[in-house]
Amino acid sequence: MICKKCKQNKDMCTEFYKSETCKTGFRATCKKCHNKKSIENQKNNLERLKKITDWQKTNRDRKNASARKYSASVKGRARKMYHAIVWRTTHISSYKNILCNVEISEFLNWAIPEIELFLKENSGKTPSVDRMNPDGNYEIGNIRIIDLGENIIRSRYLEKHLGLSVESSYFEKIEGLQKIVNAFCENLNLPKMKLIEE
Ligand SMILES: [Zn+2]
Repeated sequence: MICKKCKQNKDMCTEFYKSETCKTGFRATCKKCHNKKSIENQKNNLERLKKITDWQKTNRDRKNASARKYSASVKGRARKMYHAIVWRTTHISSYKNILCNVEISEFLNWAIPEIELFLKENSGKTPSVDRMNPDGNYEIGNIRIIDLGENIIRSRYLEKHLGLSVESSYFEKIEGLQKIVNAFCENLNLPKMKLIEE
Protein backbone atom coordinates (compact mmCIF):
# COMPACT_ATOMS: atom_id res chain seq x y z
CA MET A 1 0.00 0.00 0.00
CA ILE A 2 1.22 3.48 -0.84
CA CYS A 3 1.47 5.87 2.14
CA LYS A 4 -0.55 9.02 1.55
CA LYS A 5 2.19 11.07 3.15
CA CYS A 6 5.59 9.77 2.12
CA LYS A 7 4.25 8.11 -1.05
CA GLN A 8 6.34 4.99 -0.38
CA ASN A 9 5.00 1.56 -1.10
CA LYS A 10 5.01 -0.39 2.15
CA ASP A 11 3.60 -3.64 3.49
CA MET A 12 0.07 -2.96 4.68
CA CYS A 13 -0.03 -5.51 7.48
CA THR A 14 3.26 -4.58 9.15
CA GLU A 15 3.87 -0.93 8.19
CA PHE A 16 0.38 0.51 8.76
CA TYR A 17 -1.73 0.82 11.93
CA LYS A 18 -5.15 -0.78 11.91
CA SER A 19 -8.11 1.56 11.80
CA GLU A 20 -11.75 0.58 12.05
CA THR A 21 -12.94 3.84 10.54
CA CYS A 22 -10.90 3.48 7.35
CA LYS A 23 -12.35 1.61 4.37
CA THR A 24 -9.24 -0.58 3.94
CA GLY A 25 -9.10 -1.42 7.66
CA PHE A 26 -5.76 0.43 7.88
CA ARG A 27 -4.72 4.08 8.19
CA ALA A 28 -3.85 5.92 4.96
CA THR A 29 -0.43 6.98 6.31
CA CYS A 30 2.30 4.56 7.34
CA LYS A 31 3.33 3.96 10.99
CA LYS A 32 6.47 6.07 10.57
CA CYS A 33 4.56 9.06 9.15
CA HIS A 34 1.79 8.63 11.71
CA ASN A 35 4.26 8.60 14.62
CA LYS A 36 6.01 11.66 13.28
CA LYS A 37 2.69 13.48 13.04
CA SER A 38 1.72 12.44 16.61
CA ILE A 39 4.94 13.85 18.04
CA GLU A 40 4.40 17.08 16.11
CA ASN A 41 0.85 17.36 17.45
CA GLN A 42 2.08 16.81 20.98
CA LYS A 43 4.70 19.49 20.56
CA ASN A 44 2.13 21.91 19.17
CA ASN A 45 -0.21 21.19 22.05
CA LEU A 46 2.56 21.83 24.56
CA GLU A 47 3.42 25.11 22.85
CA ARG A 48 -0.20 26.13 22.83
CA LEU A 49 -0.50 25.29 26.52
CA LYS A 50 2.66 27.24 27.30
CA LYS A 51 1.31 30.24 25.38
CA ILE A 52 -1.90 30.11 27.43
CA THR A 53 -0.12 29.85 30.78
CA ASP A 54 2.30 32.61 29.76
CA TRP A 55 -0.65 34.79 28.88
CA GLN A 56 -2.35 33.99 32.19
CA LYS A 57 0.82 34.84 34.05
CA THR A 58 1.31 38.15 32.24
CA ASN A 59 -2.31 38.96 32.79
CA ARG A 60 -2.05 38.17 36.49
CA ASP A 61 1.08 40.32 36.82
CA ARG A 62 -0.71 43.11 35.02
CA LYS A 63 -3.72 42.78 37.34
CA ASN A 64 -1.48 42.80 40.43
CA ALA A 65 0.40 45.82 39.14
CA SER A 66 -2.82 47.65 38.50
CA ALA A 67 -4.10 46.76 41.98
CA ARG A 68 -0.85 48.01 43.51
CA LYS A 69 -1.02 51.16 41.43
CA TYR A 70 -4.60 51.71 42.53
CA SER A 71 -3.88 51.26 46.21
CA ALA A 72 -0.92 53.67 45.91
CA SER A 73 -3.10 56.11 43.97
CA VAL A 74 -4.61 59.02 45.78
CA LYS A 75 -8.11 57.57 45.51
CA GLY A 76 -6.86 54.22 46.82
CA ARG A 77 -5.11 55.94 49.71
CA ALA A 78 -8.18 57.97 50.57
CA ARG A 79 -10.39 54.87 50.59
CA LYS A 80 -7.88 53.06 52.84
CA MET A 81 -7.88 56.04 55.23
CA TYR A 82 -11.64 56.00 55.40
CA HIS A 83 -11.83 52.29 56.15
CA ALA A 84 -9.15 52.70 58.82
CA ILE A 85 -11.23 55.46 60.45
CA VAL A 86 -14.34 53.27 60.42
CA TRP A 87 -12.37 50.38 61.91
CA ARG A 88 -10.73 52.54 64.58
CA THR A 89 -13.99 54.13 65.72
CA THR A 90 -15.74 50.77 65.98
CA HIS A 91 -12.96 48.53 67.35
CA ILE A 92 -10.57 50.53 69.52
CA SER A 93 -11.68 51.28 73.07
CA SER A 94 -9.91 54.64 73.28
CA TYR A 95 -12.00 55.77 70.30
CA LYS A 96 -15.29 54.68 71.82
CA ASN A 97 -16.57 58.24 72.18
CA ILE A 98 -15.34 59.29 68.74
CA LEU A 99 -17.66 58.93 65.77
CA CYS A 100 -17.04 58.65 62.08
CA ASN A 101 -19.49 61.38 61.12
CA VAL A 102 -18.81 61.41 57.42
CA GLU A 103 -20.05 59.28 54.53
CA ILE A 104 -17.45 57.67 52.30
CA SER A 105 -18.41 59.70 49.20
CA GLU A 106 -18.22 62.94 51.18
CA PHE A 107 -14.90 61.87 52.67
CA LEU A 108 -13.41 61.04 49.26
CA ASN A 109 -14.57 64.34 47.78
CA TRP A 110 -12.78 66.11 50.59
CA ALA A 111 -9.72 63.87 50.96
CA ILE A 112 -8.62 63.39 47.34
CA PRO A 113 -7.75 67.04 46.60
CA GLU A 114 -6.34 67.44 50.14
CA ILE A 115 -4.01 64.45 49.72
CA GLU A 116 -2.98 65.61 46.25
CA LEU A 117 -2.03 69.00 47.66
CA PHE A 118 -0.22 67.40 50.62
CA LEU A 119 1.85 65.15 48.33
CA LYS A 120 2.73 68.08 46.10
CA GLU A 121 4.02 70.10 49.05
CA ASN A 122 5.52 67.24 51.12
CA SER A 123 7.23 64.90 48.72
CA GLY A 124 8.35 61.67 50.40
CA LYS A 125 6.06 62.13 53.42
CA THR A 126 3.03 60.01 54.23
CA PRO A 127 -0.37 61.70 54.46
CA SER A 128 -2.61 60.82 57.39
CA VAL A 129 -5.90 62.10 58.80
CA ASP A 130 -5.66 64.25 61.92
CA ARG A 131 -8.54 65.48 64.09
CA MET A 132 -7.84 69.11 64.94
CA ASN A 133 -9.90 68.88 68.11
CA PRO A 134 -8.79 65.53 69.53
CA ASP A 135 -12.08 65.16 71.42
CA GLY A 136 -14.11 65.85 68.28
CA ASN A 137 -15.43 63.38 65.74
CA TYR A 138 -14.13 62.49 62.33
CA GLU A 139 -16.14 65.02 60.36
CA ILE A 140 -15.59 67.69 57.75
CA GLY A 141 -14.39 70.75 59.62
CA ASN A 142 -12.49 68.76 62.25
CA ILE A 143 -10.22 66.74 59.98
CA ARG A 144 -7.13 67.66 58.05
CA ILE A 145 -4.30 65.87 56.28
CA ILE A 146 -0.93 65.97 58.04
CA ASP A 147 2.30 64.02 57.94
CA LEU A 148 1.99 60.60 59.56
CA GLY A 149 5.12 61.15 61.64
CA GLU A 150 3.79 64.41 62.99
CA ASN A 151 0.43 62.76 63.62
CA ILE A 152 2.06 60.05 65.72
CA ILE A 153 4.05 62.52 67.78
CA ARG A 154 0.83 64.52 68.32
CA SER A 155 -1.04 61.43 69.47
CA ARG A 156 -2.66 61.31 72.87
CA TYR A 157 -0.67 58.25 73.83
CA LEU A 158 2.66 60.04 73.58
CA GLU A 159 1.32 63.12 75.29
CA LYS A 160 -0.43 61.26 78.06
CA HIS A 161 2.14 58.60 78.84
CA LEU A 162 5.40 60.22 77.86
CA GLY A 163 4.60 63.88 78.17
CA LEU A 164 5.71 64.41 74.60
CA SER A 165 4.35 66.79 72.04
CA VAL A 166 5.45 68.14 68.69
CA GLU A 167 6.91 71.13 70.54
CA SER A 168 9.10 68.96 72.79
CA SER A 169 12.84 69.31 72.43
CA TYR A 170 14.89 66.82 70.47
CA PHE A 171 16.30 65.41 73.70
CA GLU A 172 12.84 64.94 75.22
CA LYS A 173 11.67 63.13 72.11
CA ILE A 174 14.66 60.77 72.11
CA GLU A 175 14.09 60.16 75.81
CA GLY A 176 10.46 59.32 75.05
CA LEU A 177 11.54 56.88 72.34
CA GLN A 178 13.99 55.35 74.83
CA LYS A 179 11.10 54.61 77.20
CA ILE A 180 9.13 52.95 74.40
CA VAL A 181 12.12 50.87 73.30
CA ASN A 182 12.80 49.77 76.87
CA ALA A 183 9.17 48.80 77.43
CA PHE A 184 9.28 46.65 74.29
CA CYS A 185 12.60 45.11 75.29
CA GLU A 186 11.20 44.21 78.68
CA ASN A 187 8.10 42.64 77.16
CA LEU A 188 10.19 40.64 74.71
CA ASN A 189 12.83 39.63 77.29
CA LEU A 190 15.54 41.45 75.39
CA PRO A 191 18.42 43.36 76.97
CA LYS A 192 17.65 47.06 77.19
CA MET A 193 18.95 49.14 74.32
CA LYS A 194 20.44 52.58 74.75
CA LEU A 195 19.52 55.30 72.25
CA ILE A 196 21.28 57.96 74.30
CA GLU A 197 23.81 58.09 77.12
CA GLU A 198 22.20 58.92 80.42
ZN1 LIG B 1 4.64 7.23 5.15
